[in-house]
Amino acid sequence: MSQQHVLVLNCGSSSLKFAILNPHTATVVLSGLAECLGSDTARLSYRFNNIKTAINLAPKASHQQAIATLVDIIKENDLAQHLVAVGHRVVHGGEHFTRSVIIDAAIKKVIAQTANLAPLHNPANLIGIEAAELAFANLPQIAVFDTAFHQTMSAEAYLYALPYSLYEKEGVRRYGFHGTSHFYVAQQAATMLKKSITDSYLISAHLGNGCSVCAIKQGQSVDTSMGLTPLEGVVMGTRSGDIDPGLFSFLTQQLGYSAVTIDTLLNKESGLLGLSQLSNDCRTLEEAHYAGNLQATLALDVFCYRLAKQIAAYVVPLGELDAIIFTGGIGENSSLIREKVLTLLRFFGFTLDNDANLAARFGQSGVITANEGPCALVIPTNEELVIAQDAAQLIKEAN
Ligand code: ADP
Repeated sequence: MSQQHVLVLNCGSSSLKFAILNPHTATVVLSGLAECLGSDTARLSYRFNNIKTAINLAPKASHQQAIATLVDIIKENDLAQHLVAVGHRVVHGGEHFTRSVIIDAAIKKVIAQTANLAPLHNPANLIGIEAAELAFANLPQIAVFDTAFHQTMSAEAYLYALPYSLYEKEGVRRYGFHGTSHFYVAQQAATMLKKSITDSYLISAHLGNGCSVCAIKQGQSVDTSMGLTPLEGVVMGTRSGDIDPGLFSFLTQQLGYSAVTIDTLLNKESGLLGLSQLSNDCRTLEEAHYAGNLQATLALDVFCYRLAKQIAAYVVPLGELDAIIFTGGIGENSSLIREKVLTLLRFFGFTLDNDANLAARFGQSGVITANEGPCALVIPTNEELVIAQDAAQLIKEAN
């Protein structure tokens, strides 16, 4: 059993993240990234036995070509023999999937149909699935959905106050994303708190390039900040998060913006980047803030204020609170953001433990508050491990 390995694939529109890991020990055997697929600078890099290797792919190399290169790497390093499954991260499962599934023709059809809700992501995920089916014909393929964990939300949390027919006929509702990450850190938090997950009241803040907050009551997602798409909610690297929907008519009628221009503005030019006019990258903004760049400070302050407000709001669905969890690249590494957010949340009685806050970085987890009552935790996420574990569990159930 300990020699079982799962290949985890995460296909973006022009990228492919991959990892081979042991679902039982969490050991990562191989990990890497193919990026700029479809462009002249398509390339792939991977880490194996602590050695990093970079390869230039053919100009305009496709996902299929990246996977073919990955197959060569797997064969060259004799890694195929222990592979038992391929686990795919699929962004949108709509209301169809409440848990991970073994992929067959019918499942692929549903993923394709759900592409109307995630036109950039689901087609890329399907390309990855079909390329992996060809390359690893003897292995079961498993789909793990970003939305599945949030399917426990109640109607009052997932409905928009729009004509109900838009929900009934078109599936317009809040779905939520980052489910695999919120699920993983909630389980870890319960272990750290020495509580059963079914007796835990948690708020998880996944802060990466995309950011979302999730209220997790007794192990189940009861509300989350992303909605129909990953644009809703808190401020992100380049995404605006919540805005006044009236902005659309202002931009179209007063400024003559097209729908495409607005989509690009809200998804790619807003958030930390738009506010700071400098960068979407939190590390860069922190450096600029310490160097006296007021626009960077403003961007970080808006980010933290909106985040703290969202966290505070989730006491409503939870009713009580054991811990706030910080995860994702910013949550796991930025002691500054955590300090600012917990200061804004002082109503909850948080007292920051400065040493613990500085220590909990670069992969180190920990409790970063010193008060009685609700605490704040830093927990590095591990979505690949959840995907590998789900894959191992599903093939065990199938046999
Ligand atoms: P993705 O959503 O693409 O997986 P990550 O979870 O890797 O992104 O998060 C990327 C974000 O984490 C970037 O804004 C980056 O600046 C931030 N980050 C990474 N390390 C640090 C650090 N030491 N201090 C502050 N921010 C950091």
